[in-house]
Amino acid sequence: MGKIIGIDLGTTNSCVAVIDGGEPLVLPNSEGSRTTPSMVGFTEENEQFVGQQAKRQAIINPAQTIYDIKRLIGHKHSSDQVRKYAQTLPFKIIENTNGDAWVKVNGQEYSPQEISSLILRKMKQTAEDYFGEEITEAVITVPAYFNDAQRQATKDAGKIAGLTVRRIINEPTAAALAYGFEQTEDANLVIFDLGGGTLDVSIVQIRGGVFEVVSTAGDNHLGGEDFDRAVLDFLMERFQSETGIDVSEDNMALQRLKEAAENAKCELSTASETNINLPFLAVDDSGPRHLSLTLSRSQLNDLCYDLVERLDKPCLQALQEAGIDKGAIDDVLLVGGMTRMPLVQERVQEIFGKKPNKGVNPDEVVAKGAAIQSGILGGEVKEVILLDITPFSLGIRVRGDRFSPIIGKNTPVPTMETKVFTTTEDKQDIVTVTVLQGENDMASKNKLLGMFNLTGIAPAAAGKPRIEVTFEIDTDGIVNVSAKDLSTNASQTITVEGHSGLSNEELQRAMQRSQKAQAALA
Ligand code: AMP
Repeated sequence: MGKIIGIDLGTTNSCVAVIDGGEPLVLPNSEGSRTTPSMVGFTEENEQFVGQQAKRQAIINPAQTIYDIKRLIGHKHSSDQVRKYAQTLPFKIIENTNGDAWVKVNGQEYSPQEISSLILRKMKQTAEDYFGEEITEAVITVPAYFNDAQRQATKDAGKIAGLTVRRIINEPTAAALAYGFEQTEDANLVIFDLGGGTLDVSIVQIRGGVFEVVSTAGDNHLGGEDFDRAVLDFLMERFQSETGIDVSEDNMALQRLKEAAENAKCELSTASETNINLPFLAVDDSGPRHLSLTLSRSQLNDLCYDLVERLDKPCLQALQEAGIDKGAIDDVLLVGGMTRMPLVQERVQEIFGKKPNKGVNPDEVVAKGAAIQSGILGGEVKEVILLDITPFSLGIRVRGDRFSPIIGKNTPVPTMETKVFTTTEDKQDIVTVTVLQGENDMASKNKLLGMFNLTGIAPAAAGKPRIEVTFEIDTDGIVNVSAKDLSTNASQTITVEGHSGLSNEELQRAMQRSQKAQAALA
């Protein structure tokens, strides 16, 4: 069997690791860096490049440099998240025929899966260069809060990149694996993961080599990008108040401001002040106008105060659902680049009453955990068992817009649950099974994952037929639902691909395009 690689496919940066000599090892890319910016650049001639080279061209070529694709993957174009987010992006987001959010570059349309596949391909190549052999299998991490559609889409991205995705695992779970790999004692851990786009909080118990995720909570709409945005808005307002020029529609100026905002945020994690200088940001009748100012850490903290306040709720929820008092926590592990911000660290310390552990590298720990999971699958790592959970309740819609949960939140996966339902009308020969995910008693307030009909129900009075609905979640967190009329044994099954999965045709087309691009490079 060939090597299986572990990939942290991050919003901002990606990282690849393998098990080598029994230990997780992070592999440097062709530029010598251990992490690779999750960015894809296109030239006018449609040549594609990934990583640092793409990041470098972002300022001069914003419409042809795609970043943060993880924020779009598995989303409908009409979703609030995409609508809000699309306004801040310098590249074009379009709605494909299924209503999914895609990007358009140089007149060509790309699914987020295909863009992600280009990043995965670079990670695959990094491993192939290291080992001098073809790599075809991977474990890929996703935020714990990724829903079914986003997980499925990530798997499709792997497929387009020429990788068989052996397992999808949750990022905080991967981090716990990497942490626990290096220590042998039993512990209750908090994994606090604040990355570029999402916050995940998981409580993990380690007992004799068994890693059990006991609860997970988070915020899919809170990450480093929001902190950058807060600084960017401040810079834009400052520039407008000084010059009267509104640059909010100027893509190139926005891209420069965005980069300056992120750099300032990162620098203020270690410095107490930083200078922001953006010459020639705009031009008016008086000539070129520049932005020049000093930003202090306390100013940054003020700008980000509301965002940091939002960290509390998911943390407290995770503790409550784990049934663990904060006094029983042995260690708080920080994951994700945003946890370098001192204000974030202070808040985490306040919430859990414990100084967070800074002994792990937040940029690499997730990829290392993915490598350990690869090692478990490949037989190189023994004595470690991983028990993960589902972060949402899953169920169906029943009469009166009520939600009937079948698998509860925080249930260990893989799992299978069955519930029997009936009809509401006499001689009803069809039922529509509406598959939902969420915690609200009202069906319409939860997320719709998919719908299917069960036909051929034997005619009977309302309430007589017995219709068995079975939900199954596999180890990747992917959901299968089936319904069966127990009197006729007529049944229907669907794999819930959300409705943001690629059609087979789209997948094949993307794979062909990817292979062609690869052949052109070879
Ligand atoms: P990740 O998704 O884990 O790669 O996290 C990326 C996020 O972490 C981005 O928003 C970065 O701007 C942010 N980040 C990286 N380094 C730092 C730092 N030193 N201080 C504050 N934020 C940082």
